Amino acid sequence: MDERDIERHLSQRVKALGGECRKVSWLGRHGAPDRLVMLPTQSAIWVELKAPGQKAKPHQQREHERMRAMGQRVVVIDSIEGVEALLA
Ligand SMILES: [Mg+2]
Repeated sequence: MDERDIERHLSQRVKALGGECRKVSWLGRHGAPDRLVMLPTQSAIWVELKAPGQKAKPHQQREHERMRAMGQRVVVIDSIEGVEALLA
């Protein structure tokens, strides 16, 4: 189980729910969350995927905090269970 397995699961589950799961990177800046999840039933969610037990790096955490300060919902997920909890 690595980050890509969890990312693939997220992408498949979002698609099954009728949503879109876009891969993301900023131009000229590090620290973008990996994915933007869009669902018909709720506001957009930015998702940073990690391998099990891994945390966001400091520069990623700083970017997440900047985004949250602007009202964005940013989550870090490191497990299949985390994906399921997000989409429950
Ligand atoms: Mg990642």
